[in-house]
Amino acid sequence: MIPVTNEKELHMELAKDALKSLTGDVTVSLWGQDLVDGKIVLYSGRLKEAKIDNRIRERLVTAGLIFFNYRSPDFLKASMVKWDPELNAIYLPVESFPRIWKFLKTSVRNGMNLKKQAGLDCTIDRPEDIIDLSLLDSNARIAFIQNDKVAYKSKELSQYEKRLIGNKQRLLDDRKNMYFYSDEEEIYHDKDCSMVKKIPILSFKASTKRPLGKSPCPACVRRMLIREACFPHTNQIRPITAMLKTGWISNKQLEHLVVNDKIKLFVEAPGELKVVGKEDSWIITGFDEGIYNLYHNNYVKVSATERYITDGYHKQGVKSNRLHHLFDYINDYSYVGHVSFVNEQRKDKEFIKKYGFLGTIIVGIKTAVKSYFKRKRFNKNQLHLVR
Ligand SMILES: [Zn+2]
Repeated sequence: MIPVTNEKELHMELAKDALKSLTGDVTVSLWGQDLVDGKIVLYSGRLKEAKIDNRIRERLVTAGLIFFNYRSPDFLKASMVKWDPELNAIYLPVESFPRIWKFLKTSVRNGMNLKKQAGLDCTIDRPEDIIDLSLLDSNARIAFIQNDKVAYKSKELSQYEKRLIGNKQRLLDDRKNMYFYSDEEEIYHDKDCSMVKKIPILSFKASTKRPLGKSPCPACVRRMLIREACFPHTNQIRPITAMLKTGWISNKQLEHLVVNDKIKLFVEAPGELKVVGKEDSWIITGFDEGIYNLYHNNYVKVSATERYITDGYHKQGVKSNRLHHLFDYINDYSYVGHVSFVNEQRKDKEFIKKYGFLGTIIVGIKTAVKSYFKRKRFNKNQLHLVR
C-alpha cells in the first residue's frame, strides 16, 4: 500500500541534486503528483515540427521533471522537458515516454490520493488519463496506451476518407508537383519534408508553381530550391546538396541563383558540377581542394553578337576559394557583354599606353565607378523569398 505523502516534502533535497545534473538553465522543477491537474503531451519527431498552436509554443519553457522509484528510495532522476505553465502540460518525445512513465505514473496516482485525502475533486480516474496522444494520431492510425507504452491501431476509414487518402497519394506521386501545402496554413513544403505527412487529407494541396501568398517552410526551403535546380532529375538532389554545402552556398544565394537567374544544376561526374545559365553551360571543379575552377562551353565566334556553341569545355581562367564568386561570374556573363568587355580592355590598354600615368588614373576611376553600379544593381535584384 502506497502511503499518501507529499513527495516534495520527502525528496526535496535529492531532487535539488538531480536538477543540478541537468545541463542548461533549469529553474522550474515539475513533480509527477502535480500533473493530476495537467497533462503529458506526446509527440514524435522534432518538437519544432509538431502541430502545436503558436500561442502555446511561445509559452513553452524548459523545466526539470522529477521522477523516482517508489521501490528504491535512492532512485531519483530529473529530465529536461518543455512545459506550458498555463495548461500545466509537459511535452515529451514519444521515445522517452516509456522510460519516464513507468516511474511517473505512481507519482500521478499519489497526486490523486493526495487530492482525495484533502477532500478535493479529482478529475481523472487513472493516471493514464493525463496523457494526450492527439499529436500522434494521423489520417490512418490512432495512438493508445497499452502496458505503459504507446501503441497504434488503424482507423476505421469511411469511403470518403479512403478517397481523400488516395487523392493525397496521387498528388504526391505526380512528378510534376513540386510544392505541397495545407489550405489552412501559410507555408509550403518540399515533397520529402516530414511536415507533408502531417498535413490533413482534407486540406492537402499540391502545385507545380510556388503557391501565391505563402512562404517556404524554413526546414525544407533548401531542398525545394535544389529540386527546382535539377528538375526533373531528382536523383541529383543528394549529390548537389552535398556540393553546395561544401561550397558554403547559403539559402539566400541559392534562392537568387534558382529563382532570379534560373540556373540549372547537374552533377556530371564526381566532383564536377555542371551549371546551365542563361546562354552558356559551365563546369565547376575543385570541390575536394576548396579552390574552385571554372570551365566554359566551347563556341565558335561568328561576329561581335553571334556565335554558336560546340562540344566540350575550356578553362575560363577564373579561380576562387569562394564558390559563390564563380556563380556571380556565371550570372554576369553574356557573350555580347564578354566581347565588349574584351574590346574595352584592349581600348583601355591603348589609352594607358598613349597617356601614361594620367591614363592609368582615368581608367582606374572608370573601372571603380562601373563596379560600384554593378554591385548596386545586383543587390537590388535580391528577391527575399527566404527569410
Ligand atoms: Zn517543410
